Amino acid sequence: MQFEDRFKSEADCREYLLRLRWPDGFVCPKCGHGQAWWVQRDLYRCAKCDYQASLTAGTIFHGSRTPLMVWFRAMWHVTHARFGVSALGLQKELMLGSYHTAWAWMHKLRAAMVRPGRDRLGGTIEVSVMYMGGHHPGKRGRGAEGKNLVVAVVQSEGNRIGRIRLRRIQNASASELEKIVAQEVEPGSTVLTDGWSGFGGLGALGYKHVAIRKGAGRGEPSLAQTAKVAQLMDQWLRKTHQNGVQCAYLDYCLDEFTFRFNRRTWRSRDKLFDALVQQAAMVPPPTRAKNPPAGSSMLVAQAQT
Ligand SMILES: [Zn+2]
Repeated sequence: MQFEDRFKSEADCREYLLRLRWPDGFVCPKCGHGQAWWVQRDLYRCAKCDYQASLTAGTIFHGSRTPLMVWFRAMWHVTHARFGVSALGLQKELMLGSYHTAWAWMHKLRAAMVRPGRDRLGGTIEVSVMYMGGHHPGKRGRGAEGKNLVVAVVQSEGNRIGRIRLRRIQNASASELEKIVAQEVEPGSTVLTDGWSGFGGLGALGYKHVAIRKGAGRGEPSLAQTAKVAQLMDQWLRKTHQNGVQCAYLDYCLDEFTFRFNRRTWRSRDKLFDALVQQAAMVPPPTRAKNPPAGSSMLVAQAQT
């Protein structure tokens, strides 16, 4: 199905959002009346008390002068693209004037990628530090400067991978790692890591910490699932950013990959689109994007070496 088949006009987008926000029909936030008239842009006026209700209040669309249709088109592009989205691809799709504007859009869309109030992962969890473009445990000290460090938190369900979280970190210190684990993993879970000393305090934080020894044999606990995730992420980045297009914005790429990965069994792209708009309707607008951080386009260069 094409975008144009579902959304022919701004009114279609408004209708769609209206149904998302009020699944059982409009309800006046002030008097509870069930009928309203559209006034302008995103404003509806209650037919009973004249209260003007904003359709976009509390959503990432709020206060934006960009038509909903452009927002929806961007989200359609993200969810229907075969691989991930690049700033250049988005620039073409939305016919944006500059690469910089496309980058700012990625910043906005990122806010919708993370489901508000998402739960922590539980059960058996592998936690591993990846350098973007590779998975080299044990090389955290020298030579790590200037590289992007990402913590992969991977739910291990026997031989298959459950859900994942990917978070960028400044360094692989105990305080950084413990902060991420506390945010992403339920206490009481079994946490598998390598032998890096930065993980040494996890037991004291209420986790069943298992440090995997190097060269673990068959049938022994391993970090096979995080290795697999690192490999898939690497492949995905290459496909997304082939033709020399680079991941301009690592945090965006991580969140998009996670969004898609955790819904990888969904057959329908339209359903993925619905989920993204639904999340967008639950979070306030992101703060204004700063300029792309210097050196942030290094990602793929590393991935390909
Ligand atoms: Zn009312």
